Amino acid sequence: MSRGTAGPEIERLIQLLAKLPGLGPRSARRAALHLIKKREQLMSPLADAIETAREKIVICSVCGNIDTHNPCTVCTDVKRDPSLIVVVADVADLWALERANAVNARYHVLGGTLSPLDGVGPADLTIDALVSRAHDPAVKEVILALNATVDGQTTVHYITDLLHNAEVKVTRLAHGVPVGGELDYLDEGTLSAAMRQRTLI
Ligand code: ZN
Repeated sequence: MSRGTAGPEIERLIQLLAKLPGLGPRSARRAALHLIKKREQLMSPLADAIETAREKIVICSVCGNIDTHNPCTVCTDVKRDPSLIVVVADVADLWALERANAVNARYHVLGGTLSPLDGVGPADLTIDALVSRAHDPAVKEVILALNATVDGQTTVHYITDLLHNAEVKVTRLAHGVPVGGELDYLDEGTLSAAMRQRTLI
């Protein structure tokens, strides 16, 4: 943008919206305009919702999910099978599996995957906490729902080795997940099928 077409307040709104994933400068401009036109119905409630969420967001100390209370809604849901822990790299993956209604389990968010090239080692992830959760006698199966990327699979092998002494079955998603595939981008049917047909490591 070489010259502004709106005042600095509106340009700032556009620039901030453009930082959101999936929104380039052109869509950000459209979104800003839409918000401005729907100032009462949309912009004010959105600003309030963002502010409320900002104040209340906490990270679950059990699983690493993002919620407004700790432990989170998933961890405190008594209808979930306490014997299953689904290990995911990121909260986006947890939400994708929940959206797909893929499994009725609890989760463990690692905070990433091992990546020697990017300097991400075991200490940067919540692997120790996972190992201690896996030793809880109530836990019978740990499902490694990690991306089918090199880093994802390195992490699968690393965790499988560590869980060798725990009394749990360790499984991974079926190869319905395309190689290089990221869970968050899979359609819900593929994700559910990969979960149902998970295989023992
Ligand atoms: Zn939780």
